[in-house]
Amino acid sequence: MRVIVVGGGIAGMGAADRLRDDGHEVVLLERDTEPGGRCRSVHWNGVWAVTGAFAFLGAETNLIDLARKLGIYQPDAIADLTAAHRWNVLVKRTQNVGFGAFDLISAAKHPFIPLTEKARLLATLPKLAQTMVAADPRDITSAAALDDVNACEYFRRFSPTFVDYFLEPCVAMFCGYGEDDFSLAWTAWSTAGRLSWSGDQIWSFKERGAGRITWELGRSLTDDPRVDLRLGRNATEVRTDADGVEVDAVCEGHTETFRGDAVVMAVSGNKVSALMPALDAERRAFFDSVDYAGHHIVYYLLDRPKGDLLDTYVLPAADGFRRTGNLRFTDMGNGTTFAHSQWKDWGCRQHADASTADLLTIAWSDVVDALPQLAETRVIDSFISRQPDAICKRPKGYIRSLRRFLDLGPMPRVAFCGDYLTNSTVGQSHWSGLQAAEDLIGRGA
Ligand SMILES: Cc1cc2nc3c(=O)[nH]c(=O)nc-3n(C[C@H](O)[C@H](O)[C@H](O)COP(=O)(O)OP(=O)(O)OC[C@H]3O[C@@H](n4cnc5c(N)ncnc54)[C@H](O)[C@@H]3O)c2cc1C
Repeated sequence: MRVIVVGGGIAGMGAADRLRDDGHEVVLLERDTEPGGRCRSVHWNGVWAVTGAFAFLGAETNLIDLARKLGIYQPDAIADLTAAHRWNVLVKRTQNVGFGAFDLISAAKHPFIPLTEKARLLATLPKLAQTMVAADPRDITSAAALDDVNACEYFRRFSPTFVDYFLEPCVAMFCGYGEDDFSLAWTAWSTAGRLSWSGDQIWSFKERGAGRITWELGRSLTDDPRVDLRLGRNATEVRTDADGVEVDAVCEGHTETFRGDAVVMAVSGNKVSALMPALDAERRAFFDSVDYAGHHIVYYLLDRPKGDLLDTYVLPAADGFRRTGNLRFTDMGNGTTFAHSQWKDWGCRQHADASTADLLTIAWSDVVDALPQLAETRVIDSFISRQPDAICKRPKGYIRSLRRFLDLGPMPRVAFCGDYLTNSTVGQSHWSGLQAAEDLIGRGA
């Protein structure tokens, strides 16, 4: 088979990798000058700066397998960021409470949650467990039975403290999701101990950070005569018919047409409809509902030893979560600390008229009140980036609509992949790419 892969992020490269291993010819079209997409490191101020994903979840073993295959999963090349990624919830201004895991059992053990709430919280477990993920944890549709309730609403009935102080800030901080995005299915999945913040290892590469994996995979694909990796190719239209597929791509003002037997669509979900004008109405409706949000905390971590990565703080202020500042600190090694932050949506709404600078001052005053030792920290930057395409949003009912989309079955000669089919992580997006390739191989296009 000759397969055109549109999009050179981890999903598209994962698909290309699997297809070439199976002996197929691959043309990989990426509009950027380098592959990697949202998992890519760039050279910044003399160091490798991570512009998207900064670490991987140990539970996502497909990435470990990939790194091994590329020869880069060696003890001295890996940074174990588990300790550095430990985080604290400052539940009261004077009390800094560590909360190392995001799962119901840890919450139930936590000293800050009242005993009565703990009892009620634990009582929810058997009921959740009955309907919880049974199949592959990366298949988020396997929790679709839970998808009709908003997680915050659901858990608030049992433990408002858990929601206000743990569930909501935790998912908002790690995933950039707003309160409405926490479908119960998604939350049940992630609290089931399957995500790395429930205690599993978090790792990255010492050299180039997370972007090393896409860079090395890109090099490996470039070196392979079975793969034609075309950078700077912006796909504009994908057509399929009984004879094959055609993809138009623009490079420096010129349009080229690539022909093949099948296509893997590996661009983010909200871009698919525009690329496929002949898409049927039901699939189009699904893709049009896929949305992305900026990342709550900008991971702009540098490629540095783990000791230099400091804790993240979620700081509920005196008025609970109405005025909250989240800051991440990175020791720049030259006497300065790099602090970057973004305000939670509802905090911003409350201070809707405040300028960015005022918001920074408000949040910073919270930080310094709570952690006076940071008073001398120099805030080098804030809002360093608003990344509108960072995280695939999961509004209530998303898993249900994803299930409906998957139930439509495969399209002839087309396979889809990307983080809108899974959770929004590198490992899972890569897994979706492998699945797309397997699907085409199985069908013979
Ligand atoms: C700031 C940030 C922090 C994150 N932190 C983490 C983390 O720590 N750990 C983690 O696991 N995940 C993290 N994520 C999520 C993770 O990065 C993504 O889920 C994953 O990289 C998505 O991969 P993808 O291949 O599906 O999409 P993308 O990486 O978006 O790849 C799509 C590719 O398609 C290309 N493309 C788009 N349109 C066209 C076109 N018309 N023609 C040709 N090419 C096109 C794009 O340039 C891009 O390269 C983070 C994301 C961001 C933004």
